This record gives sequence, structure tokens and C-alpha cells, in this order.
Amino acid sequence: MFRQKKPAVTVSIPRAALEAIFDECDRYNADETGGRLLGTYRGKGAQYDVKVNGVIGPGPNARRSSTSFFQDGDYQEQVFRAIEARHPDVEHLGNWHTHHVNGYPTLSGGDITTYRNIVNHRNHNTDFFYALLVAHKNPGGGQRYDVKHFFFRRGDDTVYEIADRNVEIIDAPLLSTGQAEPEDGGYGRAAPDGSGHRGPPTVREGTANPERAKDREFFADFYPSLKALFSEKIGAPYWKGPLTLVDGSTIEIVAVEGAGTEARDYTILTSPDDKTCSDTVAAYKGRTFPAARHAVLNLERDLNRALYRKR
Ligand SMILES: [Zn+2]
Repeated sequence: MFRQKKPAVTVSIPRAALEAIFDECDRYNADETGGRLLGTYRGKGAQYDVKVNGVIGPGPNARRSSTSFFQDGDYQEQVFRAIEARHPDVEHLGNWHTHHVNGYPTLSGGDITTYRNIVNHRNHNTDFFYALLVAHKNPGGGQRYDVKHFFFRRGDDTVYEIADRNVEIIDAPLLSTGQAEPEDGGYGRAAPDGSGHRGPPTVREGTANPERAKDREFFADFYPSLKALFSEKIGAPYWKGPLTLVDGSTIEIVAVEGAGTEARDYTILTSPDDKTCSDTVAAYKGRTFPAARHAVLNLERDLNRALYRKR
């Protein structure tokens, strides 16, 4: 197997995310605990910029001991879907967990095996996995706990520790579900192995729209990286995933079906963090298409033209 270039990774994480993690650690003085990290990212070649903007706790049915920890995947999936419905560009970036109770200062062999399995799993949504480890407690003031950051890549057995100088702690609010407690809406399914992988796409057919079936067939054949999801919030399915452009870069897109209208127009948007051809993307604001595949093909073509002209 060929050798991959060592990745250059930067992380930005809100202070509020660390505080939420430390609060959870404070609650468990004898047992390991952890949760999921959400946000957005940009990946180009070996460069990854990971932007955390949400944390999901372990969930009510998590199992823990002083040396092991199993998250409540069903709970986390529900919270994730609720956040995603409000912020369609959000991704599951990775996990966090703590060793402050057992004093082991880095990832264990078991942790590494678990994270490698996740990143190489065919249902994993990205080609990387970010792991934040709470290493130990700081009794003497300052930041309450010391943390370390690790990065795994699909098809690459190396565990990369991200240097502190590449981690930026920012003041920004965390994404939330917009509700106090996650409701059991029955949407979203955790993977059967409880690993937090996305299960099969959960598209529900509301009022019959023949374009949905055509979109599904088209994307499955030509754009398998785009996934069908369902938003309870807007009561409509949408398509989400990375689009690879002519220069090899990728851009995250979301094509959303308008809710409740006869015409059922589709609009398309990209992650607000993505600055690729922002003028081209801006021209799509408010533009509607008869089907998701029309929206995706038009945007892809215009982005490729803009990139070609820029050379
Ligand atoms: Zn561990």
C-alpha cells in the first residue's frame, strides 16, 4: 500500500465545548466518561481544518467503569439528528473521552483499535476521525483538565497527535437542538453495533413526490457520497455530502426540498465555512430547482467553470 502524506491538521474548539466536557468529567470521579464532537471541517489533500461547534454527552444509558466506557448510541443519534435538522452542514467529527480517573496519559490500545475501526467503517461519514482525550485533572487552577488531540485517517494506521499550537480555543456559542431534552421522534437510527456510525439513510416518503425516487436512483448511481436524510424540522427529505470539484477539492453541499408547497422546489447551499467560489455559491441563494439532482448538477458545473477560469 502506498504511503500517505502526513496530514496537517488544525482544530478550533469553543471554550464552551471544553467547559461542557470538563463539567461532565467533574461528575465522574471514578469512572471514564465521554461523548461525541460535532462541527464542520475542510479537507484538501493532506490539510484538514476541523471546527468543533457542538458536544453531545454520553447519554442516559452509557456504561462505564474506571477503565472502559460505552456511549449511549441511540441517545446520541437522536441528539445529532435534532441538531442536524437545524444545522444541516454539521458532521460527526469524532469523540471525546477521559482518562483522568485512571491516569493513563494517552490513548489506550483499545481506544486506538476502536477509532481505527470507526474511521475505516464503510458507513463512517468522513475519511478522518478526531479524538479528544482528557488526560488529567489540574488541581492548581488554570484550565481544569489537560486535553490532548488525536487524528485518525481512513486507510492509514498512524495515530497523529495534533500539537497544541495547532489547536485554537475560541469564544463561540455551541450548537444546540433548540429544545431542552431530545424528543424521541423516532427519527435517526444508531448503527446496530452502537458505534455511532450512521445507519442506512432514513428517508420517509411524505406526500408522494416522484422526483424523490428519481433523485435517489441518480445519486446512488453517480454521487454515492451524497446521502439522503430527513429533517423533522422542515418535514422534508434533503441530500447532503461532499462534492468533488475539478481541482480535486471538495465542498460540502446540502440540497433541501421546500416544505409544504405544491411545487416542492429544491434549493442548494454549501457550508458557510466554505469559501470556495463564494460568488458562484451566492448566486444560488434563493434559486430553486425542480429536483435535487438538478440543483446539484447546476452548482457543480458552475463551480467547476469558476475554478477553471481562476487558474
Ligand atoms: Zn481510553
